Amino acid sequence: MLTTLRRIVLAFNQETELVNALQHLVVQVKDAMTTECCSVHLADHESEHFLLIASDGLAKESLGRVTVGFKEGLVGLVGQREEPLNIANAHQHPRFKHSPEVKEDEFHAFLGTPIIHQRKVLGIISVQQKKARQFNENEEAFLVTLAAQLATAIANAESRDAINHPNDLLHKTHIQGIPGSMGLAHGQFFVSYPSAQLADINLTKDSDSTLQSELLANAVSKSIADFVRMSNQMQGAISDEALDIFEMYRQMLDNKSLQDEIGQKINDGWNAQSALKLVVDDYAMQFDALDDPYMRERATDVRDLGNKVLSYLQESSYENQHYPDDMILIAHEVTATMLAEFQSKGLKAIVSLTGSTNSHAVILARALGIPTIMGIGNVPLSSFLNKEALIDGYSGEIFISPDAAKIQEFQHLIAEENELYELVSEVVDLPAVTLDGKSIQLLINAGLGSEFDSGMKHGAFGIGLYRTEIPFMDRNCFPSELEQISWYRKVLSSFPKQPVIMRTLDVGGDKALPYFPITEDNPFLGWRGIRITLDHPEIFLLQVRAMLKANIGYGNLEIMLPMISGVVEVDDALRLINQAYFEVRSESNVPVSRPKVGIMIEVPSVLFQLSELAKKVDFFSVGSNDLTQYLLAVDRNNARVADIYDSYHPGVLRALNHIAEQSQKDLIELSLCGELASEPAGALLLLAMGYDKLSMNSHSIAKIKWVLRHINYRQAKIILAHCLELSTGKEVRNYLNEQLEMLGLGGFVRAGK
Ligand code: PEP
Ligand code: MG
Repeated sequence: MLTTLRRIVLAFNQETELVNALQHLVVQVKDAMTTECCSVHLADHESEHFLLIASDGLAKESLGRVTVGFKEGLVGLVGQREEPLNIANAHQHPRFKHSPEVKEDEFHAFLGTPIIHQRKVLGIISVQQKKARQFNENEEAFLVTLAAQLATAIANAESRDAINHPNDLLHKTHIQGIPGSMGLAHGQFFVSYPSAQLADINLTKDSDSTLQSELLANAVSKSIADFVRMSNQMQGAISDEALDIFEMYRQMLDNKSLQDEIGQKINDGWNAQSALKLVVDDYAMQFDALDDPYMRERATDVRDLGNKVLSYLQESSYENQHYPDDMILIAHEVTATMLAEFQSKGLKAIVSLTGSTNSHAVILARALGIPTIMGIGNVPLSSFLNKEALIDGYSGEIFISPDAAKIQEFQHLIAEENELYELVSEVVDLPAVTLDGKSIQLLINAGLGSEFDSGMKHGAFGIGLYRTEIPFMDRNCFPSELEQISWYRKVLSSFPKQPVIMRTLDVGGDKALPYFPITEDNPFLGWRGIRITLDHPEIFLLQVRAMLKANIGYGNLEIMLPMISGVVEVDDALRLINQAYFEVRSESNVPVSRPKVGIMIEVPSVLFQLSELAKKVDFFSVGSNDLTQYLLAVDRNNARVADIYDSYHPGVLRALNHIAEQSQKDLIELSLCGELASEPAGALLLLAMGYDKLSMNSHSIAKIKWVLRHINYRQAKIILAHCLELSTGKEVRNYLNEQLEMLGLGGFVRAGK
């Protein structure tokens, strides 16, 4: 059964058009289950009906025409109940709906199962048979397993169709992703490819078969030359057995029948990349379907080989990609480094196939004020190439090739956003104080570099979090002490009279250093932050020494330790900081000041040791991004569980409130530097809890100042008290949004004024 399932799903993924893929699917399923009819209905949620899309058994004329309401017929019932329905005689069922045009009178047995992706019913797959009988357990299990495996593939194929055929018969006009950074944009896609992947290729035709054959021959010969060179280089360094792999690859590529097959596809009208994909996928599928595990492994070899040739084929086509003026950057996984690279090239918006709301790339995108959408799923990147689109970073929607009316609607909203931005800029240099006189300090989260010039303009009180790992990322080796001193002096001098909190290196999780690779099964629960630097005192000491030396003459440095989970880590880190301090002092002939040291509150265990920790350090800063992740046991970077990651979850809010209350009792300085601080509703709640320092991206300072200057502290406390009584994150968010609308601040949480 497994092999048959694998074969059917692989074949489905090979098709470029959803309707064709489903039509092939029903034929294969009918055959595999030796039944007499198999059909797929897809859900149209706007019109609230299922559309018969593919069938082997029902009348061909009815495909793409016949619909069944969500509350009608057996298909509707499967969708409503969200579970399989297995009935011996469909005609006798009270929900049976007679649709003469589908010509199903002769079928009696019916087994239907929903296809569900992320809790949403995408469609129904059903099989029917003339003889009135119940389908057996194995048949039911087969269909349920197939539906579960197909769900993601169908969701991705629907997105792909929305790009290739907007407004087609499924009325799919947009792709839904996870909102990352708020804002709207209108622009053109620029695709940043990772290393070449055949899976990302969108099948495309090209009539110039001579050119395509030349491109292919060129790529194949470059790949063969590479294998020969690699094999020669490795001789003596690796075993003969391992060397044989290069030889095997070379022979596979040299194989005439493989080249002929690709050539044939080119003659059929496919471009070289598509022809390669079709043939390689076909070979890989054949290997995949074999029972012998050794032979199945060969599928990976064939794909590797295909990707190698593809990389040479793409070399020539990338050269032709230009940077659009209004660039929407799209990549498999948008990284912080990409943002740094593209921000000066007209970057207007970002879309990432993977990743979620609080990944570090999104945090940086927010810092730059760039609308961002994450986790749209596995759609071939090349299908976005040069396409025009509208991006709604509030709702996570992407409208591909929009019509004039939609563009106009967006332009109107963008103009309103700009007006709002202008309006809030007016308060940038005014104090952050509520209508009834409660003041609060707003600080900047820094690390990208550009904040230092604009920092003062944004009216910040200092730097509440300098993520030192960011300058560590874009290089090939650890920086020297001297290099670090010069970076840190620049940061300290940007706010010479105000506090600058520098966090010690916080890598691991989704922040990798190219020259210090860490491979772990659970990176967010693994070697991260202080755990790494305590294990590598040489890196920690060097960094702290550089900070202390940079601080000479300024005296505004404060040091913060990330990912603290208990007192032992604090003791160890303080001992090292002390050591660095005495070293620097003994080397210096001018006075060296001893900075304040604080810790980040982001691991739940420390919530129960706050008083002990308060005696050891000078301040606490809550890292609500990680605290939310660890309290809710949800990976902040995983699109699949993005809706569980919720900083307004009552558990998170009560934890934040507890930290504030306890810190007031312990008389320790408290701030919050997670993304929650930059959200109007978040800032309102934190103010009410008693946080009197909020650190956020520089882009949000004016907005949050505006919000604070338009609310009453007393009223915020009443709103907080109500939120702390609510029992779900959704209730909290709905209530807060209502309150913001009532206060005239709704334009900060949705598109428009
Ligand atoms: C946090 O966890 O809230 C935080 C500010 O740190 P980072 O996002 O860099 O992990
Ligand atoms: Mg953190």
